[in-house]
Amino acid sequence: MAMDNVTVETLVDWLARFDSAVTEQRDYLTELDSAIGDADHGANMARGMTAVMESIGAVHPGTVGELLKTVGMTLVSSVGGASGPLYGTFFLRMGIASGSVTELAAPDLERALRAGLEGVVQRGKAELGDKTMYDTFFPALEAYAAAVAAGSDAGPAIEAAARAAEEGRDATGPMIARKGRASYLGERSIGHLDPGATSAAMLLSTLAIAIAR
Ligand code: ADP
Ligand code: MG
Repeated sequence: MAMDNVTVETLVDWLARFDSAVTEQRDYLTELDSAIGDADHGANMARGMTAVMESIGAVHPGTVGELLKTVGMTLVSSVGGASGPLYGTFFLRMGIASGSVTELAAPDLERALRAGLEGVVQRGKAELGDKTMYDTFFPALEAYAAAVAAGSDAGPAIEAAARAAEEGRDATGPMIARKGRASYLGERSIGHLDPGATSAAMLLSTLAIAIAR
């Protein structure tokens, strides 16, 4: 058992940290969504993650697959709008890809993240540059994969992913939105960070913190 493997306990710690992050940043995420959407992204994410922590507490999932599928199903059922199904699918697919294991080695986490992101794309059809959460997730996964290919453990690889995620988030500022509600604004969406790209960067940074702990 490698020291750096990601256990169910680490993943639960990640989810708790992400719950705290979106709850603390609820107003900020809502402010971003009020500029180019309908001002509910903070509320959506906070409500969803509160429900997730309740489900986990009730079910006590024993495997990575069970845990992440519980997260995905809870998000799909508790969050309306675009972000519930998209984040829900991300976690569901991660869970299905992980299966009945109690920990993930660095390449297993890559496979899970890739499956999650493929689910997001299948569902939302986002492409790079559309100003969505995909603009955060895609470079994060690329950075993670490059680090793992170079021999990194999950910890340093996910730190590289979190940095790439922040750059991806920041790059959404000048983009014109082409998916979701923000696309109705056309060029008026320029100059604002995408809310989902911002919460996705929080998802990666809290995973880096949980794994480093
Ligand atoms: P809604 O847009 O229904 O109000 P939220 O405000 O919670 O839902 O989430 C908005 C975020 O969802 C956007 O900032 C964007 O990142 C993401 N999003 C919307 N549509 C798509 C899509 N088709 N593919 C990927 N992400 C999307
Ligand atoms: Mg919204």
